Amino acid sequence: MSVLVSGASFAGLSAAYWLAEIGEQVTVVERNPAVRRTGAPIDVRGDALGVAADMGILDAITANRAKTAHRTAFTTWVDAGGKPIGALPTEAATDSADDIEILREHLVDIMHAALSPDVEFVHGDWIADVDDVGSAVEVTFVHGAPRRFDYLVGADGMHSGVRRLVFGPEADYRHHLGAYMVIVPLPAGTGVATQSVMYNTPGRSYGISDFTDLVIGYLSFRSPEIEYDFHDVEEQKKIAIDALGDDPNWYVPMLMEHIRESDEVFFDSLSQIRMPGWSRGRTVLVGDAAHATSPLSGRGTALAMLGGHFLAKELQAAAGDPVSGFAGYEKRLRPYADRAQDGVPEALGFMLPATAEALAERNRRFPVDPRR
Ligand SMILES: Cc1cc2nc3c(=O)[nH]c(=O)nc-3n(C[C@H](O)[C@H](O)[C@H](O)COP(=O)(O)OP(=O)(O)OC[C@H]3O[C@@H](n4cnc5c(N)ncnc54)[C@H](O)[C@@H]3O)c2cc1C
Repeated sequence: MSVLVSGASFAGLSAAYWLAEIGEQVTVVERNPAVRRTGAPIDVRGDALGVAADMGILDAITANRAKTAHRTAFTTWVDAGGKPIGALPTEAATDSADDIEILREHLVDIMHAALSPDVEFVHGDWIADVDDVGSAVEVTFVHGAPRRFDYLVGADGMHSGVRRLVFGPEADYRHHLGAYMVIVPLPAGTGVATQSVMYNTPGRSYGISDFTDLVIGYLSFRSPEIEYDFHDVEEQKKIAIDALGDDPNWYVPMLMEHIRESDEVFFDSLSQIRMPGWSRGRTVLVGDAAHATSPLSGRGTALAMLGGHFLAKELQAAAGDPVSGFAGYEKRLRPYADRAQDGVPEALGFMLPATAEALAERNRRFPVDPRR
């Protein structure tokens, strides 16, 4: 059967790999002219490690793991002067010692290299409209000529265009968790020497994570939903600086300077996508498009990889009936997605305590380990 996959990140690449493995004719359409390579490192963990092994890419992932070996804790919390006052032990933030943290660009390259050469890629285009005619989907593109596919896989992230076209507006499914996140790349050697360090004030966090080859600032603040233009990065920077920039302590002025100057600032709501069903007719969603958990779960990438695998296996078992294959896929993956989403409020509580009392309680609960 022919399938169109919209989105070429972890969910799209996993779906493309596994659907090609079961003999489908796969076309991938990716809106960006090239696959997004920058951003915070991500985790391959839990059952996704088995999926990676079955794809033959586990050794490459292991060989390219992010350089975190010298970290004394997953995150060390510091006061305004930089003195450690609490630490989240690595064991509290990971599934097992087998979890692998890897730079986004490395995982994208590794997954890409594993794909069958028969997978067709269309970069720089996206879907304008979808018409499910019962026996197929007829797809109109913004640039290319219309095409017909047996089914459509939406793997285009939390702000999925496929979801909007087929299931309805984002507002029906996206749940703002009451906070925003800002990520900014920093120059190597920014001063935290292979550690992940965070300074909090009530309702705000300022973090620096040093992976040797990549140093990133990651900041967040509590706020109700804000109206802004998703395409206007300067407006997003201003929102971030207005919300976070008036603190003269720790590395805050330096972080603000980089937010002001960088053209690679990432800004988004901490949100989850919660949907009653991940498929409609001949369209199915995988990855963040279906069940974004928020970066705080640390499981979004693993879920995306697992989703592509389960989808193909269930479609194969359904022997030519996509609708029942989609149902089987959702039944298998939903417990994983629910678990990942349900853990986020607690993580938000200790990464971004709302009050001075909650902050003090967090530091009491996770004291600095004197042995490290
Ligand atoms: C700041 C940040 C930190 C994170 N940290 C972690 C972490 O530590 N661990 C972890 O496991 N996960 C983390 N995540 C989550 C993880 O990045 C996502 O869960 C994961 O990338 C989801 O993969 P995906 O393929 O579903 O979506 P995405 O990675 O969002 O990819 C969607 C793809 O679709 C493309 N696209 C978008 N719109 C269209 C369109 N209309 N047509 C065609 N293509 C389109 C995009 O360009 C992109 O390539 C983090 C996320 C963020 C934002």
